[in-house]
Amino acid sequence: MTERILAGKTAVVTGSNSGIGLGVAHALARAGADLVINSFTDTAEDHALAEKLAAEHGVTARYVQADMSKAGDCRALIEKAGRCDILVNNAGIQHVAPIPDFPVEKWDQIIAINLSSAFHTTAAALPLMRAAGWGRVVNIASAHGLTASPFKSAYVAAKHGVVGLSKVTALETATDPITCNAICPGYVLTPIIEAQIPDQMKTHGMSREDVIAKVMLQRQPSGDFATVDQIGGTAVFLCSPAADQITGTTISVDGGWTAL
Ligand code: NAD
Repeated sequence: MTERILAGKTAVVTGSNSGIGLGVAHALARAGADLVINSFTDTAEDHALAEKLAAEHGVTARYVQADMSKAGDCRALIEKAGRCDILVNNAGIQHVAPIPDFPVEKWDQIIAINLSSAFHTTAAALPLMRAAGWGRVVNIASAHGLTASPFKSAYVAAKHGVVGLSKVTALETATDPITCNAICPGYVLTPIIEAQIPDQMKTHGMSREDVIAKVMLQRQPSGDFATVDQIGGTAVFLCSPAADQITGTTISVDGGWTAL
């Protein structure tokens, strides 16, 4: 059983009713953190998920609806949390198209959700972390925060932006007991990746199996998807005392992608 090193801390995880965000929420709660989970929906299932996390891990957990494409909602999420010792900026979407055909509204939406939301939540959370005398900002970037792929202009631009924002956040908090880092996952088989497979099949004229093996995991030398538990474990590590002097950097969890 994981030591409950985060007991007494409150973690706000954006976009956490699915995929990596949910995996990170489980890992932080397993380490004892109380949770505020989030998405843009407001369903009975969303609130039931918070209850399930609380019961499973013996922590408190609340679901707070907020649309991370809206600056006001991002800041309201932190206000409603009331306390935010650990902020995990995870909400993200994807759209795949060549630049001349890339829909403007998709560009704007991806920049808003994948990049600007992290600026707004961080701006609202840092005063709370300073008042509490401890804080961790963990931004879920991507291997696409360090490298590029064709047809993902908005996503790659946003994720490079998240890496830059993480560095600035780290410098502005360097003398506070606060750190900020970006986790850069390679491919993790979650709903955002499932949703890309049909587009990639069309773009490359390939079967599902070939898209997974020859397009997605071709970039990942391990030949395996990373798991949400591995991303969660990395987030817990960044919140542990061993990581107190780790700030302003990236940690790749990508099976060797960025070593290529
Ligand atoms: P996912 O689709 O399973 O999860 C995305 C989450 O964001 C969901 O909870 C969704 O409800 C939420 N979300 C979407 N739009 C939102 C909005 N407007 N407001 C609030 N929440 C919103 O995808 P995932 O793979 O778990 O992705 C999570 C993060 O990890 C993203 O930032 C993604 O870019 C990043 N990432 C994923 C992979 C991968 O291979 N899956 C790799 C690298 C980085």
